[in-house]
Amino acid sequence: MTETQTITTLPFTEDDIMRAYKGKPQKCMCGCSGTYFERLLHAPQIHHIFLKVQRNAQLGVQTHYDEIGDQHIYTLVLGKTQYVLYVYREAK
Ligand SMILES: [Zn+2]
Repeated sequence: MTETQTITTLPFTEDDIMRAYKGKPQKCMCGCSGTYFERLLHAPQIHHIFLKVQRNAQLGVQTHYDEIGDQHIYTLVLGKTQYVLYVYREAK
């Protein structure tokens, strides 16, 4: 994994999101403390999470590039909920 950066605007659109996650911060990410949503199966939930992160991006979104999965990962914690977006390509 590359270095984590903090950004305040999202460099991609909703169409670039392949997967999203909503769960408890600082917990196991296997799915036992939250839920994964897949682009092709859960478009409404992904839309909701995208808007949540976009509207609160000024609070600081943590991002890093995951080389193993060849994806960019964006994480925002709001209160007791962690939102994560998985993007395979960033919009230019
Ligand atoms: Zn777990």
